[in-house]
Amino acid sequence: MTLQQTIAEYLKYTGQKGLDISAALIDCDGVLYDSMKYHTQAWVKLMKKNGIKCTRDEFYELEGMTGSEIIKMKFKQGAGKNITDDEARALYGVKTRYFTELGEAPVMPGAKRVLETLKDADVERVLVTGSQQDVLLERIEKDFPGLFGEVKVTGHDVRKGKPNPEPFLKGMAKSEKKPNQCIVIENAPLGVQAAHAAGCFTIGVTTGPIPEKDLYKAGADLVYKNMDELAAALPSLLVALSLVKA
Ligand code: CA
Repeated sequence: MTLQQTIAEYLKYTGQKGLDISAALIDCDGVLYDSMKYHTQAWVKLMKKNGIKCTRDEFYELEGMTGSEIIKMKFKQGAGKNITDDEARALYGVKTRYFTELGEAPVMPGAKRVLETLKDADVERVLVTGSQQDVLLERIEKDFPGLFGEVKVTGHDVRKGKPNPEPFLKGMAKSEKKPNQCIVIENAPLGVQAAHAAGCFTIGVTTGPIPEKDLYKAGADLVYKNMDELAAALPSLLVALSLVKA
């Protein structure tokens, strides 16, 4: 499918008349940082310590849900336990400690170039993540200086994690944008599903073990192999998107 056809498809299923992209809603883990291998390792350690059998792959599939949602679901399924909000918070604290002990996750190659290209094109950069890991959130200003504005959505702002569209709807509300003014950059199937449900033009990046077809199935409009490939394609993509004005 050509880029023009992809855009035409988006307009058809959303019922939008055109696009007028002025913001990018950008996920954190697996997009800005190569951190998912650490998250999945920390999750498995937490579950094993609590007698719950699981594999790392399961946690790639759950990426995007809030920590509390993941804990409640896995403890129910794996141990028949109903976890209270307080217990979930404490367990998430333990998972965060395991995550931090693994060391600093590297910045994702190509992420900075994607952000700089968006900035040069006057496209606002809005962080939208379900993460509550303050350690990682604090690193963003240091690693991407001046590339994000004040507007952001984190796990502290949302009640429902991805695949619920709430995080992206909040991002749009905070930045006063409509769906046809936003692109979303996401790596996880549930994140793609949430962005698609929010009505945004959704770009997937396969930075982890999940294949391209799963991101398309989740509703991605376009999928790139990684952030480097997206960075290279972005200037012409932004031109193509701005050619179909609302
Ligand atoms: Ca992610």
